[in-house]
Amino acid sequence: MKSFNIALVAHDGRKEELLAWVRFNAATLSKHNLYATGTTGRLIEEIKIEKDTPFRGKVTRLLSGPLGGDQQIGAMIAERKIDMLIFFCDNLIVQGHQNDVSALTRLAALYNIAFATNRTTADMLLTSTLLDDPDYTIRIPECISNYANRKLK
Ligand code: PGA
Repeated sequence: MKSFNIALVAHDGRKEELLAWVRFNAATLSKHNLYATGTTGRLIEEIKIEKDTPFRGKVTRLLSGPLGGDQQIGAMIAERKIDMLIFFCDNLIVQGHQNDVSALTRLAALYNIAFATNRTTADMLLTSTLLDDPDYTIRIPECISNYANRKLK
């Protein structure tokens, strides 16, 4: 299987849910390059020391989300360095860094990366047969080059 660059972010109210998802998909996730916001990444790393876990994932930790980590992941998406974003947002409260949350979800949608905000979709993304298709690539929407090359007086 090709290795993908997968970014993982969870708000505090959904960190346990993300960790459960990582445990469930431990063997598969171990084959990919993982990036995570600071605290989410630390908790994911700790799964490696759990008894009998098959999780061996390499996690690159960025800054904590509210301290710039969401923006770091957004920039990586814009630079085409991230293929998939698993972002478990707390939908019951407004975040102090809501602007960063909106910016990150906007870039994930704009750059057409695989993007899940809940566990079912995240499971389906990770088990897609397209992950193994050598001819499948993420298409960069034309609107991006159109915008970059737009005519201005
Ligand atoms: P954290 O950030 O992983 O550092 O808690 C998550 C977020 O973006 O709120």
